[in-house]
Amino acid sequence: MAEASSIQTETLNPLDPSTSNASVLFHREIKFQLAKKPFRGFSSDFHIETLNPTTSEPRGPSSALSVAPAKRHDASEFSEFGLDPELSFGITVRKIGAGLRNLGNTCFLNSVLQCLTHTEPLAAYLQSGKHKSSCHVAGFCALCAIQNHVSRALHASGRTLSPEDLVGNLRCISRNFQNARQEDAHEYMVNLLESMHRCCLPSGVPSESPSAYEKSFVHKIFGGLLRSQVKCQQCSFCSNKFDPFLDLSLEIFKAESLHKALANFTAAEWLDGGEKQYNCQRCKQKVRALKQLTVHKAPYVLTIHLKRFHAYEPGQKIKKKVRFDCALDLKPFVSGSYEGDLKYSLYGVLVHSGHSTHSGHYYCYVRTSNDMWYTLDDNKVLLISVSSFSPAPLPVIASIWLRRALDGGTKKEKETMNLVLQN
Ligand SMILES: [Zn+2]
Ligand SMILES: [Zn+2]
Repeated sequence: MAEASSIQTETLNPLDPSTSNASVLFHREIKFQLAKKPFRGFSSDFHIETLNPTTSEPRGPSSALSVAPAKRHDASEFSEFGLDPELSFGITVRKIGAGLRNLGNTCFLNSVLQCLTHTEPLAAYLQSGKHKSSCHVAGFCALCAIQNHVSRALHASGRTLSPEDLVGNLRCISRNFQNARQEDAHEYMVNLLESMHRCCLPSGVPSESPSAYEKSFVHKIFGGLLRSQVKCQQCSFCSNKFDPFLDLSLEIFKAESLHKALANFTAAEWLDGGEKQYNCQRCKQKVRALKQLTVHKAPYVLTIHLKRFHAYEPGQKIKKKVRFDCALDLKPFVSGSYEGDLKYSLYGVLVHSGHSTHSGHYYCYVRTSNDMWYTLDDNKVLLISVSSFSPAPLPVIASIWLRRALDGGTKKEKETMNLVLQN
């Protein structure tokens, strides 16, 4: 059967052969396995019905997204972690969302949309319909567009959608984008989140004001605070500057692992001469000083972009190995007061395959709430198993999406999930 063999090929060799030299590795091998249920069709578009062996058959339009009233994260649990109770939906993305049609070099957009769709608190907020009912944006609203998209995608598991609205309004997200041209996925993500941030603010609130950061649900989910501290070595005076961020961009030139890249990012740096010499406000003179960046407020969802371009060789891509794990403790890189550890768990990996930063192909891996990993490559949706990781050639990772492990680890997440599945 032609369909079956093509599925098998897809499933066993889902990675682009041109990327076999690519060097970024998971710690453990990702094994690709055949779907437990046969595919129902593979004609014009990739089509799956039930790839996820642990969930039941779809029962209706709401089956992809399940509200779990029995096991909600209660508001106190969220406030304890500094999170807004407004986001405490006991909602989980159980099934994988729809595949997305490539509308002409739109893989950069598709892969970002897929990571966003499978960002649980975002999906939960959007599904609550809060924004749309009170939207005051004239013209194209990025938030309404994302809300429509996420809702459609999560209700169309096993099908393929065209994200026409977001593609057609690409230049409303940023004037730098051009339709039908391959764009940078990270630039798209940053611009999209900023547009969504602007759209969710009450009218009259400037988008770069403290009250905007406080009110914006985009910042409540993705937002953190970076502290830049300069300490005078003569009088020990510390000058602190705080900057909100929606993602972190890390240099990987001198880093073999994500941990090391974060360590380099937050390493103290001497300011002791030349242009860098520091003028101490208290000593009123040029002094030796130590400068250090730290994460002062950790976001709930942390997206880390790996800088893969050479500053002096445009288009050249840094294709080095950067190891990372499914869990990350951010505590060593944080200056805010957090008791206990600050564990994050991996739920999304955005990949760029290709030799230069100007061309190539984007796709992503996402994890659903019941710990099933999928490859989302435009209209192709494949189930993968990450039960055993070992160094295996994987294409180059562009960004890593992590979510705060609210209750101290995946075990409890799994228990929560089991309850959800039983209900
Ligand atoms: Zn809107
Ligand atoms: Zn001083």
